[in-house]
Amino acid sequence: MDDCIFCRIAKKDIGAKIVYEDDNVIGFDDISPQAPVHVIIISKKHIVSVDFIDESDADIMTSLMFSFKKIAEIKGIGNNGYRIVSNHKERAGQSVFHLHFHLLGGRDMKWPPG
Ligand code: 5GP
Ligand code: ZN
Repeated sequence: MDDCIFCRIAKKDIGAKIVYEDDNVIGFDDISPQAPVHVIIISKKHIVSVDFIDESDADIMTSLMFSFKKIAEIKGIGNNGYRIVSNHKERAGQSVFHLHFHLLGGRDMKWPPG
């Protein structure tokens, strides 16, 4: 989708600091980091959110899930712990409507989140 910022990053139309890529997903540094490590992991395919995943996306979801520990290792936070979150719809604070997960680390995390 041409008007989707994350599709444009996936197509490399817009620059991003890519830290991980495979056939199905890309991980890149968040433009407005909320922790010393803040990586956004997206599906290359435009999927609006978790509500829109279907059975044919199983390979994509597998790639997303396996990407987390790889990215944590690349960023050097695999041993100390990190958080994976996905904001879903407006009330949770989703601002980009293309499936993505935040991987946050490099500092202590509070619970519950705000
Ligand atoms: P959401 O608010 O949907 O949960 O997360 C969207 C995230 O994408 C935000 O943390 C925001 O800072 C990040 N973001 C939005 N636009 C861009 C961009 O153009 N480049 C990068 N690297 N991150 C972006
Ligand atoms: Zn998109």
